[in-house]
Amino acid sequence: MNVHHLNCGVLHAPPSPQASCHCLLLEHNGRLALVDTGIGLQDIARPEERIGRQAIDGAGFQFHEALTAVRQIEGLGFQAADVTDIVLTHGDPDHAGGLADFPAAAVHVSDEELARIKAGHWRYSAAQFAHQPQWVVHPKSDVRWFGLEGRPLSLSLKVDAVLVPLAGHTLGHCGVAVRVGDHWLLHVGDAYYLSAELSTDEHPVSQLASMRADDDDERRASLGELRRLARDHATEVAMFGYHDFTEFPSGWLPVAW
Ligand SMILES: [Zn+2]
Repeated sequence: MNVHHLNCGVLHAPPSPQASCHCLLLEHNGRLALVDTGIGLQDIARPEERIGRQAIDGAGFQFHEALTAVRQIEGLGFQAADVTDIVLTHGDPDHAGGLADFPAAAVHVSDEELARIKAGHWRYSAAQFAHQPQWVVHPKSDVRWFGLEGRPLSLSLKVDAVLVPLAGHTLGHCGVAVRVGDHWLLHVGDAYYLSAELSTDEHPVSQLASMRADDDDERRASLGELRRLARDHATEVAMFGYHDFTEFPSGWLPVAW
């Protein structure tokens, strides 16, 4: 399996640092799976309708077609239709915007998250889901993954992947773990914004994280679990978040915009 690290968008709301949209593209036997989708073509075409002026200004959305997942996938020699599965950490507009560029893909999400999306909770953009994604819902599971709940994902690609509930940022927010050889990649989504949060609560971005959390106690508990994993399982689990530009592995310099 090939793992590609794609930056599928940029957000910049000073004084917060510039934030990435770090998506994973898994490639196996010509089939592709995406973890999160970044900012999509339709967001760029109709930003106010899809995301809204308040969120655009508040989060500092930037719109660059070259960064969309679909354009980067085409740049790698594939087509949108090669993406058979998408796994969403949660439904926020900076994560779900690219869904509509892959209408044929199965979209995996926790059932808690889908319930909130379908209920029309204010933080989500109904327009980003108007194309009626082919949802695959993942309910609670008894499977454990390094001491956390793990919801096994059956993707078209023969890949070992697990949805790992890390609630708080949203009520159904999950990380996504993918086995690569003898270790795991853990995409933590927005369970932290910056990896600095693994070692301190005093970082300025922690206040933003509290503000944006649907349940801040749960968010802190999830962050505590990530700190435990980082401490006890660093050799088995390599974690990274969605918004920290410093976490792209060397050799995966984001596309210039
Ligand atoms: Zn986000």
